[in-house]
Amino acid sequence: MGKILLLIIIGLVVYALIRNYQRSLDKPAASAREHAVEDMVKCAHCGVNLPRSEAIYSGGDFFCTPEHKQLGKK
Ligand SMILES: [Zn+2]
Repeated sequence: MGKILLLIIIGLVVYALIRNYQRSLDKPAASAREHAVEDMVKCAHCGVNLPRSEAIYSGGDFFCTPEHKQLGKK
């Protein structure tokens, strides 16, 4: 009976260590994901939000599509 109890305790300790290890692995990944989030900019014509890298910059304003860039600021 004592052996079984010991095995259960060892099992729980190993389980706790694995959980701790996984949590320590998850943390840097989560912060890296936050850093990957780009700045959002607003289309000066329709007001839609889009990532800065996908926006078209013209004359101090951002636009979502070339059409809106041509239509200009509303
Ligand atoms: Zn737009």
